[in-house]
Amino acid sequence: MKRRWLMLFTGGFLAMGALVTGIGLLSAASEAQTGTESSPVKALAEREMYYPGSEDLGPNEMRVIACGTGMPNARPKQAAACWLVELGNGDKFLFDIGTGSAERISALQIPYNYLDKVFIGHLHSDHFGDLDALYCGGIVANRVVPLKVWGPSSIEPKYGTKVAMEHMEGMLAWDIDTRMGNTDTRGAFLDVTEFDYTAVNQVIYQENGVTIRTIPAIHIFDGAVSFILEWNGLKFCYSSDTFPNKWWMEYAQDADISIHECFIAPESLVEKQGFTPEAALNVGTQIHTSPAQFGKVMAATKPRMAVAYHFFNDFDTAPAVLREIRRTYDGPLALATDYMVFNVTKDDIRVRMAAIEEAVWPQPSTIPLVPPDPSLRRTAMSTMLLEGRVVHRDVLQEVYDDINQRFGSNEKVPE
Ligand SMILES: [Zn+2]
Ligand SMILES: [Zn+2]
Repeated sequence: MKRRWLMLFTGGFLAMGALVTGIGLLSAASEAQTGTESSPVKALAEREMYYPGSEDLGPNEMRVIACGTGMPNARPKQAAACWLVELGNGDKFLFDIGTGSAERISALQIPYNYLDKVFIGHLHSDHFGDLDALYCGGIVANRVVPLKVWGPSSIEPKYGTKVAMEHMEGMLAWDIDTRMGNTDTRGAFLDVTEFDYTAVNQVIYQENGVTIRTIPAIHIFDGAVSFILEWNGLKFCYSSDTFPNKWWMEYAQDADISIHECFIAPESLVEKQGFTPEAALNVGTQIHTSPAQFGKVMAATKPRMAVAYHFFNDFDTAPAVLREIRRTYDGPLALATDYMVFNVTKDDIRVRMAAIEEAVWPQPSTIPLVPPDPSLRRTAMSTMLLEGRVVHRDVLQEVYDDINQRFGSNEKVPE
């Protein structure tokens, strides 16, 4: 099996907070020494960074991008949980969409019509806190298809995904209703599928050669699940949040890429965040999976690539996480940080960081847009406000004339 560990030899490796370790280091070193001939004028033969939108995805390739790897309180370096899976058949799936992750998703410059499937592992805000941003922001950003959401039930309807989504739509009434009829708002609909959180290895999605199953997760309360996606002989497992459990041990075996929560080491919770030792041990080893337990899970399930996430991955916290994992696991490992990219094929797993342009714009719609349909309007401004408008008709007339001339429209300034 050929593995490339180019990141290990880049100067920015520690500065980026990324850490990839594992077997195959020696072969990578010799590969680097005997690599492609260098030239002072030619482009590099191989990119060590992923530039969004610049690479085809092979027909048998899976690309997984970390859009959120941190803790519940999003920070500039790390949003909360979110993983994008892109497949060579054209399908794309989001697993969790935690606070701050919508910004990471936008950086990937993917047309929003393709970002229409979200699988939520549980209803903590660090796992679905940016769903509203993708939902409403996506409408403005040219998504003209409904947003489809899958999520678990719980022991009572009020704790399940369906009720949560109904309440979210209620919360967004002003947002959605005021947009209707003012642009192409065909994407202003949610399509929600709630599935049984107790189901074991149950298929919740099967289309276009892709099968997604769920298994129960053990995390604070009933209503948390993990996901297993299989396509074209490749297996992707994503824990969302869970304490080590028997279902993961059984069904996440031999994954090509296995992303499992790995909470920050308890010592860091005490030293960096001021937790009491009691709270640090409770949160860090009982509610979540501690690094040494993460290692145990990976040693037992043997993925081709183990990915640890759900901790602040810094120069002064990563060593403790790595030390603890390495007590119990010596296989291939990535300590995730945002914008880490995994290209997975049958015979190669390549791990790089994405190079991000901050000033990105949404891509044009992949489906032709239609002009606003005033008959769809749900809200009308009151007379009191309408009568308060100060209309500079001469200026507006110029803008309308200019736009009509440039783009061939025939709009008249409203009376
Ligand atoms: Zn959680
Ligand atoms: Zn979480």
